[in-house]
Amino acid sequence: MKKYVIGIDVGGTKILYGVFDNRMNLLRVIQRATDQELTPDQMMRQMTSNVQELLRGADIRPEEVRGIGAAFPSHIDFNRGFVLETCDIPQLNNVPVRDMLENRLNIPVWLDNDSNVAALAEHRLGAGRGHRDMIFVSISTGIGGGLILNGDLYRGIHGCAGEIGHMFVSDSLGYPCGCGVTGCVQSISSGPHMAEYAMNRIKEGAESSILRYAGTLSKIDMVAVGRAFAENDPLAVEVVERGAEYLGRMFQSLYQIFDINVFVYGGGVMKLGPRFVDMIIASYRRYSQMELKYPAHFLPAELGDNTGMIGAALLVP
Ligand SMILES: [Zn+2]
Repeated sequence: MKKYVIGIDVGGTKILYGVFDNRMNLLRVIQRATDQELTPDQMMRQMTSNVQELLRGADIRPEEVRGIGAAFPSHIDFNRGFVLETCDIPQLNNVPVRDMLENRLNIPVWLDNDSNVAALAEHRLGAGRGHRDMIFVSISTGIGGGLILNGDLYRGIHGCAGEIGHMFVSDSLGYPCGCGVTGCVQSISSGPHMAEYAMNRIKEGAESSILRYAGTLSKIDMVAVGRAFAENDPLAVEVVERGAEYLGRMFQSLYQIFDINVFVYGGGVMKLGPRFVDMIIASYRRYSQMELKYPAHFLPAELGDNTGMIGAALLVP
């Protein structure tokens, strides 16, 4: 009987492999470094042997596995099973990863991008449980998301649905973004760009304990901003408020488009804490006509480091 599923979370630096039983209990995990030097063929061979090792360690035969889901930090063609474009593992661009893995392992494989599977995981097993519709947002090095509409992941026409970090929110602020425009929410409110703004303000002469925490100007990051923010350093408060303002606008636009007011948030920048969340909600409320009638739910993601692996396994029908 096929009573197990495997979830693989492929990142730019590490790959997590987990095997779950049919009730999504995690039975065994292994972690391997991502080798950027490998060709696609070598990488598939390595992933295959890692899956075999995972199964041996859990004393499970390949015939007992219902399917494998794999998440990539990439644009995915879900139907054809291709990794189309990825900055973190560029050698996989335009590679038919699904078929390559299936041929080697003889187990059905599904692929999707990391934000989509995180949305799926939070919806089924995390903060979004019990909500039919939900929007997941990760605010980190980039800003990504996933849409759960009518209980299912919505991928859009080209697999690009939920790329909400590139929602255009300002024609006067922001830094150039990989999406080709300046003024998308990621170009303002992602961790690196909030830190860049702090750095530029200090270069202009602003006094701040951010610099003391960072050591030097070039080392300013969100950890330093967060520590200064915790002690109410005026520049840190300005930086965080500015980031929150545009995130609030982003959430408000999402509400207007989808009439969904269940937002699950995660990502490293959220470590700024509850005051940051309150600022985002305050901004959302400034622009929302419907907030009084239908108050929004802002819910912290629950699943932590295993989210990608869990969500990948949930791709298996
Ligand atoms: Zn962008």
